Amino acid sequence: MNGDTERDCMACGLIAGTEPLPGGTVLTTDRWVVEHCVGPLGLGTLVVKPIRHVVHVADLAAEETGELGPLLQRVSAAVTTTMNPEQVYVCLWSHAGAVPGHIHFVVQPALKDDLDRHSAYGPALQMAMFDAGIVPDGAAVEEVCARLRKALAAQ
Ligand SMILES: [Zn+2]
Repeated sequence: MNGDTERDCMACGLIAGTEPLPGGTVLTTDRWVVEHCVGPLGLGTLVVKPIRHVVHVADLAAEETGELGPLLQRVSAAVTTTMNPEQVYVCLWSHAGAVPGHIHFVVQPALKDDLDRHSAYGPALQMAMFDAGIVPDGAAVEEVCARLRKALAAQ
C-alpha cells in the first residue's frame, strides 16, 4: 500500500490510525508528524512526514517548509540523545516501487553495531538493512518511543 493517491497511501493510513503503528505518534506539530519507522532501518529510526498528502518536496506549502528545518534538527537531536549513534542520517527517497509516494524524511541513528554487523555505512548500510529485513520488536519500539518523547519534551 504505497499508492500515489491519498486513499491508497500507507503514510496517510499510519497518520489516520487505519494502519498499525508500533510506538504510536511520537510528535505532532501544526503540519508535520513524527513516527517510528515501520521498516527494517533499526530501532530508534524516526520518520518525519507532512500531515498533508504531499508527494514531492517541491509541492510543500510555505508553512510546511517553514517548520521543516527546525523540526529535522529537533528530531535529530532527540535521536542523538536517545540512541548515542556515530552519526544521524537524514534522507528522503519516497519512491516505493519506483512510484513517487507521500514524502517522509528518515532520521536514522547510524549505530556502531549496525555498521559492524553489515560492514557498511551510508546508503549501503540502508540497503543492507533492507536486504536483512529485520523489523524491530514492537515492545522495544514502544520503549524507545517513550524515551524519544521524553527527549523531545526536554528540549
Ligand atoms: Zn499520504
